Amino acid sequence: MRKSQCDVLIVGGGFSGTMLAVHLLRNSRSLSVAVIDRGPLPGRGLAYSSPHRFHLLNVPAGEMSAWPDAPDDFLRWARTHYDATVQWRSFPPRTSYGAYIASLLEATVAQFATGRLQWIQDEALSLHRRKDKLGVQLKVGSERLARAVVLATGNFPPANAKMPGLETATALYFQFPWADAALQKIPPYGSVLLVGSGLTSVDLIMALKSKGFRGVIHVLSRQGLFPRPRRHIGRDESWPSFWNERSPRTTRGLLRLVRCQVQAAAEKGVDWRTVIDSLRPRTQDIWRSLAHEEQKRFLRHVRVYWDVHRHRVAPEIADILADMQSEGQVRLHTGTVVRYSEDRDRAEVRYWDRDSQTEQRLCADRVINCTGSETDCRRIDESFITSLFVQGFARPDPLFLGVDVDEHGALLDYRGTPSDALYAIGPTRKGCLWETTTVPEIRVQAATLGKHLAEMLERRTRQRGILKTA
Ligand SMILES: Cc1cc2nc3c(=O)[nH]c(=O)nc-3n(C[C@H](O)[C@H](O)[C@H](O)COP(=O)(O)OP(=O)(O)OC[C@H]3O[C@@H](n4cnc5c(N)ncnc54)[C@H](O)[C@@H]3O)c2cc1C
Repeated sequence: MRKSQCDVLIVGGGFSGTMLAVHLLRNSRSLSVAVIDRGPLPGRGLAYSSPHRFHLLNVPAGEMSAWPDAPDDFLRWARTHYDATVQWRSFPPRTSYGAYIASLLEATVAQFATGRLQWIQDEALSLHRRKDKLGVQLKVGSERLARAVVLATGNFPPANAKMPGLETATALYFQFPWADAALQKIPPYGSVLLVGSGLTSVDLIMALKSKGFRGVIHVLSRQGLFPRPRRHIGRDESWPSFWNERSPRTTRGLLRLVRCQVQAAAEKGVDWRTVIDSLRPRTQDIWRSLAHEEQKRFLRHVRVYWDVHRHRVAPEIADILADMQSEGQVRLHTGTVVRYSEDRDRAEVRYWDRDSQTEQRLCADRVINCTGSETDCRRIDESFITSLFVQGFARPDPLFLGVDVDEHGALLDYRGTPSDALYAIGPTRKGCLWETTTVPEIRVQAATLGKHLAEMLERRTRQRGILKTA
């Protein structure tokens, strides 16, 4: 392939981008594919690049196959390449999963696609139309041309925590929790304040633990809820699917339905987690069945509770967290920040404490924003995504959770017309699908989009050939 052009250019080489490349290369014997990623290695992305030993998968190994139709693939790989004792319900380190995904790409290239894949370690800054191709501008200054471009950019980066006074923050405050420097130069017996108590916050607590931090970790959030623990549920424990087209179409009605099912399950000795998990294959249908106002109601009133019950942590991590809480090393506070300020080497956060209904104060050597990825794409500060909106290549979905797409993942332009060359996979489809951020959903998208794109581009190549010979 010519270095500066290819058939499909994938922006982002985490799980989504790498598995899409795998399917494209397997579905076609001629297409060339290039992946642009900030990092040097395929399959890692944000989730699977962590070096910390307490960063475990939060989905059991038995559910983490990269293939929709080979459920035990990761389990087999992990037993051979990581630890022979890995069980269906084990939670191996996330770094091992990155290595697994990279191995699938490597095997695909060796078997089917020598010379057809290019990995470009760089950052995509903007997109432009160039006659019948799309051009992606890279940070190094060059441009790559492609017949189709796919956004596999993952979750949007986090917005700043909402804290009046933050404008004056210095290096004590970190907006991006995954920055290498966020956990560096903290006094070993000092104090850290994490704003937000979701999965990111738990991740940072585990990273601090694995770095040997002995001080106090304050966690402040509006609801004061940590993600619920997973349980070692047997492979055979299940709960029948209970949602159908006649089920309620309101957030309130659905909530009532789920509560009734959880109660019925409890009476039969079945755990609530099994009920929540039984909804998973239908979650996208449920989301699409809700009217816009009901989706907004869900986001306003239920989202926080859904997230902590649906996106749970490995039992081992929950145990460590519970121990750290009972030893007083981790202290969870519930409230809303009133003011952020700094005094020399310490940050001070004043907040309205929900339990005592008084203003309280926390001091820390480091404050880290763990409020999660930005959910309003109008506010994100990402050159490549902004360039799509500014030029009208893309429009936000009606809930502003990501980009608007059709059923194949083709981006809708500012008028609502589906693109024939620009697609999205993974978390950026959240507004349209809701459940699109974890492996079990994205692996299906990678397989269907890989097939769709390969067929579409090969059909166009054949048509061009026919026109030339006519
Ligand atoms: C900490 C964490 C733990 C998780 N654990 C699990 C788990 O155990 N099980 C599970 O099923 N799911 C888990 N998830 C969910 C996770 O989002 C998905 O499993 C999956 O990794 C998403 O992959 P992705 O490729 O879409 O996004 P990402 O992993 O975020 O990858 C996107 C990649 O695109 C690159 N990129 C973005 N913009 C550009 C640009 N302009 N130019 C160049 N490169 C760019 C980024 O640098 C990144 O490498 C976890 C998520 C996180 C954040």
